[in-house]
Amino acid sequence: MQINKIGVVGAGTMGNGIAHVCALSGFDVVLIDMSQEILDRATEKMKKNMGRQVKKEKISQADMDAALKRITNATALEALKDADLVVEAVVEDLKTKKEIFQKLDAICKKDCILSSNTSSISIGDIAQATKRPEKVMGMHFMNPVPMMVLVELVKGKSTSEETINAAREIAEKLGKTPVLVNDSPGFVANRILMPMINEAVWCLNEGVAKAEDVDAVMKLGMNHPMGPLALADLIGLDVCKSILDVMYEGFSDKKYAPCPLLSKKVEEGNLGRKTGKGFYEYGK
Ligand code: NAD
Repeated sequence: MQINKIGVVGAGTMGNGIAHVCALSGFDVVLIDMSQEILDRATEKMKKNMGRQVKKEKISQADMDAALKRITNATALEALKDADLVVEAVVEDLKTKKEIFQKLDAICKKDCILSSNTSSISIGDIAQATKRPEKVMGMHFMNPVPMMVLVELVKGKSTSEETINAAREIAEKLGKTPVLVNDSPGFVANRILMPMINEAVWCLNEGVAKAEDVDAVMKLGMNHPMGPLALADLIGLDVCKSILDVMYEGFSDKKYAPCPLLSKKVEEGNLGRKTGKGFYEYGK
């Protein structure tokens, strides 16, 4: 299946990175969000991040200019009517994702693959909003997308082999390494990562150690490139909480219940790097 145009819905932390990588790999990209202001911010972020890659001589200025030209913006999903693949990266909420997939199903051409970057939500549940469940799957990129090599490909119970193979090919063209997993709350990546992050929050909550020291233990003792609390700030504390909620509900197991300190931070609007404050402070 020939894929030329990729639609990315949601221009936040992940959508931004996915659009960046797709455009640099030669695909035409249509990036969608709810307002032009958000899209302008996303463009600025992509310019800044690609600029860094130019400085490090990972890409040339000409690569960056060409990639930015390949990206167009829109606030209406109708702009995706001729997309070959859509990657949805809006908030981690089943209702919102289902509404978007229902609209995408009506707008996008019949053979378009509809994928979700969801961290934890059932692909089967999302696919139910469409009349093309065989063309619905998870493409779970890691944060920050331009740097991280893994893409978890999630096979829903109705996803066809053809769809998986097309997504595998795209992931490889993006310079990523796809790993196929089945549809289960949190898939593999977050099933393992989120309980660790949550346990780190419990350590902080119970005064076992300061945030810096919890992170130092995991960096120095386990060779993790960053500590779990710094990683939670990078991911977004709202995203971490949503993923834990999905696993808590999906497995009916209280071991996945978000630590009250995590919930408190989310309620306060301290969501990590994106708001300037989470377990650490980042300034502007
Ligand atoms: P984010 O909050 O940074 O961005 C979400 C974006 O979606 C926002 O810009 C918002 O305006 C937009 N949006 C919301 N509703 C929309 C709608 N109806 N139409 C168009 N745009 C809409 O979130 P994020 O961290 O980028 O996460 C997005 C998805 O990726 C989630 O499903 C999350 O679980 C998943 N994910 C996140 C990470 C991470 O580290 N943050 C990693 C892997 C996967």
